[in-house]
Amino acid sequence: MSTRRAVIYARLSISSEKSVSIERQVEACEAYADSRGWTVVRTFVDDGVSASKNKPEDRPQWSELLAAPEKYDTVIIWKLDRLARRTMDFLRAHETLQARNAGVVAVEDPVDMTTAQGRMFTTVLASFAEMEAESIGARVKDAQVKLLRSGRVVGGAVPYGWQTIPNPNGAGFVLAQDPDRIPFVRGMVERVQRGNSIYSVVQWLNEEGAPTRSGRPWAYSTVEGIIRHPLLAGMIAFNRGSATKLKRRGDGLLRGDDGLPVVDGSLAIMPVADWRAMLTRLDDKDSGHSKPRALRSETSPLLSGLMWCGEDGVRMYRCAEGGKRHGYRCPKCDQTITSFEPIVVAEFLRQKGERVRWTRVEQVVEGGAALLPEIEHRLTELTAALQDTDDDDRAAQLAEEIGRLRASRRKAREETPNVSIRYDDAGWFEDAWEEAGEDVEEQRAVLDDGLERIWVRRGGTGRRTEAQVLARLTFDWKVPEDLGPVANH
Ligand SMILES: [Zn+2]
Repeated sequence: MSTRRAVIYARLSISSEKSVSIERQVEACEAYADSRGWTVVRTFVDDGVSASKNKPEDRPQWSELLAAPEKYDTVIIWKLDRLARRTMDFLRAHETLQARNAGVVAVEDPVDMTTAQGRMFTTVLASFAEMEAESIGARVKDAQVKLLRSGRVVGGAVPYGWQTIPNPNGAGFVLAQDPDRIPFVRGMVERVQRGNSIYSVVQWLNEEGAPTRSGRPWAYSTVEGIIRHPLLAGMIAFNRGSATKLKRRGDGLLRGDDGLPVVDGSLAIMPVADWRAMLTRLDDKDSGHSKPRALRSETSPLLSGLMWCGEDGVRMYRCAEGGKRHGYRCPKCDQTITSFEPIVVAEFLRQKGERVRWTRVEQVVEGGAALLPEIEHRLTELTAALQDTDDDDRAAQLAEEIGRLRASRRKAREETPNVSIRYDDAGWFEDAWEEAGEDVEEQRAVLDDGLERIWVRRGGTGRRTEAQVLARLTFDWKVPEDLGPVANH
């Protein structure tokens, strides 16, 4: 029997600090090959690639391995989960390797796809790896519930009117009312309770110049989303909960052992019963007929605000021209673009579908003020030390240090809070799009996480092919593709 030629494949995901380092994986694989007298012809490493999110064929180095010019008959991996978390993914990877007359061997798991018996055992093992990946998902959820119960923020969008602040009682961040914006939320509630329509509330907010997140004018759906948010009554929603899910009231609320939603009075601006009564009234009104006719079509502008004229650099606005056609017009040069929404969506999914949807999360992190807890902690320590000491020199030294810290505390307190941006991994764009279904608001949220703007160039008149329409469009993507989470909770 001639010497086996082997390649090594190692993988490390972004989040799993506990898993074995690339170096150790490779070493173990090399030792394994050595002990059997195999020749290692090449090593492939996927660093920072999660197995539950990326199928083997989507990982750069695994693809490289499959296409490598070197001849090999064995792929050595450290453990089965380095290759796949799902049985189907594993079997597909195995099939592709078989086409090259190669099989997988794992150092730590009894995996040997080069024999019939080995193949049978391996399939069983792959099933177990899949179950484990699912239970990891469940554990993450459990951890989130624990954090939420202790008042901590676990990521996701913070509703308008609230903000995250450093946890005064420990690590992480907690929710708090945003003193600048909460008056507007109270104003919205008062008006809706009085029986005013959401449209009149939108008008009021725009007239008052209430700040919006996007800088764009207030929209019906934004106001509705705020009014329906359970946080108004101090109930904590899992922040990933989408607007759609919140509409199915009761879903995604943090609950106590008695099954009732946990209410945090410090966050609430109204009692739970009042909030529910307000929603019931809204639901009665909100059959669609109560909306003014002219406004009805304005409720679902999928691309509104995203379309910009590439000729003049100004925003394009929807035009009702041509009946039901979704068209946009440039107020300066009058160029229009129509019937292009499906083309934009298809192009978006083609380019972004299989990418991680990094969703933007704003977090209030104070500049120097972020150091306050640390300063306070040190001050307490030093004051205790000062009380304990009998040494005059030491006491003078401590007093001096305390004085310096007091000065930095004063300075830190004067600093204005900065909003820093963090990005959360929210799965794949194509999954999110599918989940959004027909909900335009949700679809738009997905697009917003990937798209900054779409620039429109002038095109000829008359009927256009999809390729011709697409040629007029330039997509400005929002987040670099290789961006990872900037901070973890
Ligand atoms: Zn223009």
